[in-house]
This record gives sequence, C-alpha cells and structure tokens, in this order.
Amino acid sequence: MSDPNAPTKPLGPLVDLDEWETAFEPAGHSGEPASAKTTFRDYRKNVRPGVREFYRLNHTHQTLDFVLAKKREYLPRKKRVMTVWEAMEFLNTLIDDSDPDTDLSQIEHLMQTAEAIRRAGHPRWFIVTGLIHDLGKVLCLFGEPQWAVVGDTFPVGCRYSDKIVFAEFFEANPDSSVPAYQTACGIYSEACGLGNVHLSWGHDEYLYHVVKDRLPEEALAMIRYHSFYAAHREGEYTHLMTGRDKALLEWVRKFNSFDLYSKGEDRPDVAALTPYYKDLVTEFFPQPLAW
Ligand code: FE
Ligand code: FE
Repeated sequence: MSDPNAPTKPLGPLVDLDEWETAFEPAGHSGEPASAKTTFRDYRKNVRPGVREFYRLNHTHQTLDFVLAKKREYLPRKKRVMTVWEAMEFLNTLIDDSDPDTDLSQIEHLMQTAEAIRRAGHPRWFIVTGLIHDLGKVLCLFGEPQWAVVGDTFPVGCRYSDKIVFAEFFEANPDSSVPAYQTACGIYSEACGLGNVHLSWGHDEYLYHVVKDRLPEEALAMIRYHSFYAAHREGEYTHLMTGRDKALLEWVRKFNSFDLYSKGEDRPDVAALTPYYKDLVTEFFPQPLAW
C-alpha cells in the first residue's frame, strides 16, 4: 500500500503544472503581464516538447463523453471535506520537476496573484478570488493527469476554434468525426449561454462548482473561465454567449492581468502574508467545503 500522505507527483509531460502558462509568455519566464500588442501565446516558438505533448494528450482525450463522465464523478463533491486553507496546504503537497529556486510554489502563485489584486485597490471578494482561483488543481492529487487539470479550456460538443493552441491536435479527438459535434453550435443553440456549454474538464470548472454559493457572479466567472483563452483573449465563441456572459468576460480579462507567474523580488513572503489571508479566507469561507 502506498502512503496516502506522501507528496504526489502530477501525471504528465509538463515539468510543472504551470508550464503551459509560462511557456507562452513573450520573453519566456518574464512574468510581465501580457500586453495586447505582443504576439502573446506564440506557442510554436521554442516551446518545450513536453508542452506540445501535453496539448496533444489534452486535445486528443477531452471529448464530450469524457467531460460528462468527469462531471458525474466530481460534481457530487464526495472526495473530501476541507477548508479553503486546508485545500491550499493540500495543493502545496504536489511536487513536480520544476526548480524550487526559480519556480513558484502553488501557494506562492496564489498569494502573488492576490497581492497584485490587493495592490490595485480591488475589493476583498476580488482579492480572495485571486487567492483561491487555482485550488481546483487538487484534481491532480485525486489522480487526474495534467491534461485533465490544466491547459486552455474550450467547448466540447461543437466545432473547435482554430484559435485554440495546437488546434491541429483535435484531429485525433474522436469527436472530430461526429458531424453533429462539428457545426458552429454543435449540440448547443445560438446564445444559449456559457453556463449551458460544456467546457473541457479541468481546474476552472471544478473549483467553480466547489465555491459557487459563496462568491459574487463576477468572481465565479473569473474562476470558471480564466483558462478559456479562445473566448477571453481571442474573442471566439461569442455565438454561444448571452449579453451577460460577454459582460462577465470583461471581468475575466481584468482578472487575467493579475494571474502572474513572476519570480525574484516579486516572490511573496508566504509566512508574513499568512495572517492576512487566513482572515480573508475565514470571512468568505467560514465553513469547510465539500470537494
Ligand atoms: Fe489557473
Ligand atoms: Fe493561476
């Protein structure tokens, strides 16, 4: 029997769970917020083979059936009961092949994002959203492979946008040969609303369901759609959205400018910040949550 308390390594080709994000920044690991003018996510240049392989797996295996099966498995939220703080500590037991001297831990990334939001003078609900936005990555600790936890998300059951990174890998997805899934609307109808569209399974959708009764709608959109780059960065899939979805995507864009991975001097002092963030978490999440 393996020790259930032993640190877990994520299953997959990425060196660390955030490599799919940092691999696309214009100057490698600059950590600068993306400017609209740069060819952001210019992933073909110098992308590590592991990142490419990650997207091959993701695009091949994220079918509509897979997403529905994961929803049946996780949405009843019967895996664990944890406070938000416990989930942060649990997530930090994930060990990967990244360099601890140069790469941020999961808690450092969460605090760095929250601190950037706090410095910009945003309200407490927005700061707490930054702090928790990636906690859905605990899916890795439940045994999910990297390709079912991180990466750009996209709708399943309708045509793939060619603006999705490595869109050519969708050829190997069995849904590509289902004609009903390959029209613009697929199984959905025009302006049906993003809430009715199944996105590829991952940490965004999962955390949304864990916290959906506790945060304002804008915060929930940030959590649920922060990896949906085809929509919030490329402007795709508007035909499936309501007017409200489009307005909420503006909040997702605002959030995304704070979802940083910078190192060096910007590295947050986790011990010093812990009392402030424990208070913040208790304010919004006084009770343990079902995961
Ligand atoms: Fe994320
Ligand atoms: Fe993040």
